[in-house]
Amino acid sequence: MKYFSLNKQSPIVNFKEATILGQAPDKGLYFPERIPIHTPDFIGQLQQLSKEDIAFRVMEPFVGDTIPADELYRIVSETVNFPFPLKLINTTIASLELYHGPTFAFKDVGARFMSRCLSYFSKNQSNKITILVATSGDTGGAVANGFFGVEGIEVVILYPSGKVSPVQELQLTTCGENITALEVEGSFDDCQAMVKMVFADKDINDRMQLCSANSINVARWLSQQIYYFLAYQQWEDQTAPVISVPSGNFGNLCAGIMAYKTGLPVKHFIAACNVNDAVPDYLLTGIFKTKPTTPTISNAMDVGNPSNFVRILALMNQDYTSFSSLVSGYTISDEVTIETIREVHQQYDYLLDPHGAVAYAALKQYQQFHDDAKGYIVETADPVKFPDAIKMAIGSEPLIPLAAMELFAKEKRSIPMLNEYASFKEYLLSR
Ligand SMILES: *Cc1c(COP(=O)(O)O)cnc(C)c1O
Repeated sequence: MKYFSLNKQSPIVNFKEATILGQAPDKGLYFPERIPIHTPDFIGQLQQLSKEDIAFRVMEPFVGDTIPADELYRIVSETVNFPFPLKLINTTIASLELYHGPTFAFKDVGARFMSRCLSYFSKNQSNKITILVATSGDTGGAVANGFFGVEGIEVVILYPSGKVSPVQELQLTTCGENITALEVEGSFDDCQAMVKMVFADKDINDRMQLCSANSINVARWLSQQIYYFLAYQQWEDQTAPVISVPSGNFGNLCAGIMAYKTGLPVKHFIAACNVNDAVPDYLLTGIFKTKPTTPTISNAMDVGNPSNFVRILALMNQDYTSFSSLVSGYTISDEVTIETIREVHQQYDYLLDPHGAVAYAALKQYQQFHDDAKGYIVETADPVKFPDAIKMAIGSEPLIPLAAMELFAKEKRSIPMLNEYASFKEYLLSR
């Protein structure tokens, strides 16, 4: 499989090059040259296959010959080595729980797959790869965990001081070894701006091999298809599901649409957003306008200019009509999010996190006009990561699982960093 830049000004690359580069030199996102189609018997057989076999079959065409089959099988097996249960909340809505991995959020899947691919690719390389990542919370933890102890790879994470939850901060700052956390006096946007400046800085790129681990990386994006297949394996209804995806940068939904394009049965997708709703707006009006970011309680979706929108457009052949007939967009306020957590907890004894609650509320609204629609929400994080929102909704904080308790016994280690590019650059060059 070859990949081209959606800006069309860069050479064509293979999966290895696309993964190491992250973004194409012309700043475009990489996109596969063709969409592989699964045979109907693969889809029909899902129930008989193991999750490792499914993950292998899904990723193999995208990876091509850049990783030998036995290595790829090991990599996907390590990627999916935790449960992906599809649990019924009520008779028409199920929850695909993607938070049973090491950092309690779905980003573990993409981060684990990408880290293992990079580790394989860096084996025969003499220079170290430095992964730079800005995080608003969940990405940093997943990347830290995914790359922890991986030889040949150094990770530098920038996070906004005081703006991530306690569990999220501990996940970033307690690894040590090859993982360094920079605590920036500023916002997530400031962190992201500094990372972008580094990638554009020739001085630094001449001296270090830099790689980005955000969701524009093809290894992270494409491996997120796997769990849509694992969900269908557990889907018992005759008709295909409506899938509601809580969305921010739209990597997750874009992976779902890719899975659909390769042959996975899906009736409809829902782009569930908080008030940062550039895509729902586009679906209503046909006009895409980025917006300044507004902070919400589903903070991992506070994105005003979603990177993967251009990829979804490419999957839809730039056609608004096909896009809007496959995907519906909804905007869910913080008030409705809290109310949804409360109601679902009361009525069904099921605890949603704020992101899953946005997806649930959106699917509910869709069902008001499509009363035969059955589907599932993609539950992207464990409620334990958002104790304040849960307390607002149900009056008490969620029980902290044992694995998270262990974090509180560890010591936070971060390097304070001014919100100033010169200091950040000096730090990187002195490493
Ligand atoms: C990152 C994240 C999202 C948004 O995912 P995208 O792929 O950026 O749309 C949703 N929920 C949680 C918990 C996240 O961490």
